[in-house]
Amino acid sequence: MARTFICTCEDVTVKDVRRAFEKGYRDLESVKRYTGIGTGPCQGKTCLAIAARELLKLGATPGEVMPFTVRPPLHPTFFSALASLDPEALPLDEGVPRKPAPVEKPRPSGALPKKAHVVIVGGGIMGLGLAYNLAKRGVTDVVLIERGYLTGGASGRNGGGVRAQWTTPTMIRLAQRSLAIGDSFAAEMGINTWFRRGGYLFLAPSKKQVERIEKNAVLHNEHGMRTRVLTPAEAKDVVPELDPTRFLAASWNPDDAVVFPWPYVWGYATRAEALGVKVLTFTRVTGFESEGKRLTAVKTDQGTIQADIVVNAAGAWSPEVAALAGVKLPNEPERHEILVSEPLKPFLGPLVSNLGNGLYFSQSLRGEIVGGMADPNEPEGIQMGSTLRFLSRFARALTEVMPITGGVKVMRQWAGCYDVTPDNNPILGAAGYDNFLQLNGWVGHGFMMAPAVTELMAGWMAGDPPDEIFERFTLSRFERGETAGEDFIIG
Ligand SMILES: Cc1cc2nc3c(=O)[nH]c(=O)nc-3n(C[C@H](O)[C@H](O)[C@H](O)COP(=O)(O)OP(=O)(O)OC[C@H]3O[C@@H](n4cnc5c(N)ncnc54)[C@H](O)[C@@H]3O)c2cc1C
Repeated sequence: MARTFICTCEDVTVKDVRRAFEKGYRDLESVKRYTGIGTGPCQGKTCLAIAARELLKLGATPGEVMPFTVRPPLHPTFFSALASLDPEALPLDEGVPRKPAPVEKPRPSGALPKKAHVVIVGGGIMGLGLAYNLAKRGVTDVVLIERGYLTGGASGRNGGGVRAQWTTPTMIRLAQRSLAIGDSFAAEMGINTWFRRGGYLFLAPSKKQVERIEKNAVLHNEHGMRTRVLTPAEAKDVVPELDPTRFLAASWNPDDAVVFPWPYVWGYATRAEALGVKVLTFTRVTGFESEGKRLTAVKTDQGTIQADIVVNAAGAWSPEVAALAGVKLPNEPERHEILVSEPLKPFLGPLVSNLGNGLYFSQSLRGEIVGGMADPNEPEGIQMGSTLRFLSRFARALTEVMPITGGVKVMRQWAGCYDVTPDNNPILGAAGYDNFLQLNGWVGHGFMMAPAVTELMAGWMAGDPPDEIFERFTLSRFERGETAGEDFIIG
């Protein structure tokens, strides 16, 4: 049977767009993420208008087909050209896209119920993972409220890295559980997640970093991990394209993994809804009602919903959401930029990260190099613009450690926000009110921790004894001065 293509870069047909619409993904941003339109080399130039027309025909509103923003660079550009720019001469400003012009808001995905046992604020991997795990435990009177489209927050913007190479037994344990869930997640959710255990290779360019990875490897081995410290020559056996003069040793765990983040989000959302959870998109939480030590209702721009338990899983916006209840969280949002290259034949097994400058990159199963790197001069606050400065800093760092990539073109860049706490560990459990549960502060590792953590939190909420993380990572630890910083954060 003939197939009518809407997007030839990503092989998306009219049927795929119709299927997305039927599943409730009506707005263009969601359809983009559900089908892949607009993520290939043409950046939506050929498919955007056709997809919008098809959605309007199906019944979408003009607000819902608001065009998504093309992500710079507007033409695929060589890493070598970008590396030739001086990043220090480039602005640190909020970059492109600037704020889009206001348009009619896409329609909420359903009517707001009057009451729910659990209301979860935030439709990222944490909120959706919790919703799914609660429903799996039989707690189905759950409403999840997301102010935009699913995958609009950090959960749709991250590098998809899942590693057990951490520096504390707690994080190692959580990551090991998430990796194990990753092995069967696609089958459980009925969606391909491109979960791939290609390993993580951490490059240590200084003596101090070498000591750090040697110490970590001992801890990892105690926890049953296969981490080994490699010489540069041995690291070249794992990734032959590396320049071995750029580092002194490398930490290698072949069991770490990379996934494609979007299907994880869709998987949790779809299965949670199938089990009875209501996921309401384009609905914003605007305040709370309380009585004594309990929150009693969640106010939204679509009405008010009574709740027995409220969960703040709003990622980088969690301090903003907590403040609506008069609760102060110490979390700070921090922009992290990321990019993808043109697709290449498979050549790169692991995710590689340089501990000297925070560079990380892997190859997706679509063949693209996906990578990011933090900027120490990043201005504070929620911003998601993309900068040329990042492209140039990243290109320099990448071509230095893997010179062959100079001839590869960058296709697209974007940004998201880490939700950073003072000790780089999360905030979990009740804060301010007995029934106001925090599930935030996940810095640069919330995606990988979500499967394990949301399983534990759902169990606890359903009556299991609390895991130690719910006692260790409370908000009150900051007052008590009982913090132990996690320092193996990359990106
Ligand atoms: C560039 C980048 C790379 C990263 N790489 C990795 C990685 O490789 N591995 C890894 O594990 N982690 C990575 N992370 C971190 C990871 O993405 C986050 O820790 C994780 O996605 C956080 O999930 P979340 O559900 O807490 O937040 P989010 O996914 O941000 O979800 C929060 C949601 O709350 C919604 N919200 C906010 N305010 C309101 C309101 N008032 N009403 C209703 N809804 C609201 C937002 O719209 C948003 O969708 C990366 C992050 C970035 C930015």
